[in-house]
Amino acid sequence: MELERAMLSAMIHRSAEKIETESEALCALDLAIGDGDHGANMKRGWDAVRAKATEIAALPTGEALSAIGRTLVMTVGGASGPLYGSFFLAAGATLERGCRLPEDLVEVVAAGVDAVGARGRSKAGEKTMLDVLVPVLGVLRAEAGRPGLIGAARDAARRSAELTAPMLARKGRAAYLGSRSVGHVDPGAKSSCLIVEAICDSLEIRP
Ligand code: ADP
Ligand code: MG
Repeated sequence: MELERAMLSAMIHRSAEKIETESEALCALDLAIGDGDHGANMKRGWDAVRAKATEIAALPTGEALSAIGRTLVMTVGGASGPLYGSFFLAAGATLERGCRLPEDLVEVVAAGVDAVGARGRSKAGEKTMLDVLVPVLGVLRAEAGRPGLIGAARDAARRSAELTAPMLARKGRAAYLGSRSVGHVDPGAKSSCLIVEAICDSLEIRP
């Protein structure tokens, strides 16, 4: 239980740090195929989560993930706010319904990924955050219980974010650009990669 609190706290701080460091880079990606606000949106959201880190990390893990989701919905804005919010709310709900970590990790993440797809009416292959989240979920399924799981998830996140560059955007603002969206990494795919990396880092902390 204590380890779970420490992991939650590390996940929040690591996510907020990574988003802060990459905020300008995320805005630059979004300037190329959107409106240039993705880094600022994400930074506002994760700064708000970090400001509540102590109280959130004191909650049972399911409630903590739901609180992160609610905070992101209220603060991120844009298309990505409700999508990231849905992810954490749905993942948190599985734990509140009785799922356990780490045993049910695949089910918890799958609920989050499904919620993003339902909220965005989107699926992998459309040049969005789902082009990172879906492959990472695939690796979690394929490697469940294996020792290299965390490293494999991190590698999949990085690789799949890069692989959004040649894709044609079919959802979100970038879809309006048609073929001009090709050749740029999707900003939401990049921010998802950062969050996955932050979660992987926090799962690796040792008591
Ligand atoms: P906005 O487009 O409203 O300015 P952001 O810039 O914060 O919002 O977020 C843009 C990102 O949101 C995109 O790069 C993409 O990854 C993600 N996104 C947009 N629409 C969808 C959707 N329908 N499904 C999944 N992800 C989406
Ligand atoms: Mg934007």
